[in-house]
Amino acid sequence: MKRSSLSCSFCGRAASEVSRLIAGGDGTVHICDACVATCTGVLEATPAGPADWAARSEDELLAALRLSEQTVEATRAVLQAQIDHLRGRGLSWEKIGGALGISRQAAWERFS
Ligand SMILES: [Zn+2]
Repeated sequence: MKRSSLSCSFCGRAASEVSRLIAGGDGTVHICDACVATCTGVLEATPAGPADWAARSEDELLAALRLSEQTVEATRAVLQAQIDHLRGRGLSWEKIGGALGISRQAAWERFS
């Protein structure tokens, strides 16, 4: 794949619009420097999981709730954008649902 056609799999910005673009997995997914910075901020600000939660105060855990929700919402927005892009290419709800492990109907209800 030519660098000029690459884009961040998270925010969708083209390689020409970001400072750095890092390939992951088999080279079909990429993440830009801005999204890495966002992820790093999330990791630093949010409790890691149940093992970490036990060591945190209730105030710390409450303070992290909003950031956790924002992370979920941001991820949901990226998922919707990916699906909108695929629909724009003419892909069926059946194919999109199949990729998500849900029915055509469930995909349409969640993402149309
Ligand atoms: Zn990005």
